[in-house]
Order: sequence, then structure tokens, then C-alpha cells
Amino acid sequence: MARAEDMYQCQTVDCGFVYDPDRGDRRRKIPAGTAFADLPDDWRCPSCGAGKKLFRPLAGEGSVVAEQG
Ligand SMILES: [Zn+2]
Repeated sequence: MARAEDMYQCQTVDCGFVYDPDRGDRRRKIPAGTAFADLPDDWRCPSCGAGKKLFRPLAGEGSVVAEQG
């Protein structure tokens, strides 16, 4: 299973979609094992259409948890 640091969650209101690199994104033909950082720049949230910049890791550097201390 992917580490929380490798899983990215969509931060838009009412979404909460989590990109799991172990699963990829079949609809966009992203194979399982693709890290979030390796997704194409035009990849968007399958749930709400938000761009990559609106995603944050679940843990570690840059995560919401890290900013809350
Ligand atoms: Zn989303």
C-alpha cells in the first residue's frame, strides 16, 4: 500500500478525492504505480476537475497536517 506521503488529496470544497499511486487513474490511462509527481501537468481530478496544484499530500512536507503543526 502507498504511504500517506505518496497519496494526494483534492483540496476543493466538497471533493476530497484521493489519488492513490497504487491504483493510478484508469479513466485517464494512468497506470498503477504512477507517482503523483509523475502525472501529466494537464491531469485533473477525476471527481471535480481541479488541477494538480489543488492537491496536497496526506502527510509529510506540503501537507495540510504539516501546516497545522
Ligand atoms: Zn477534486
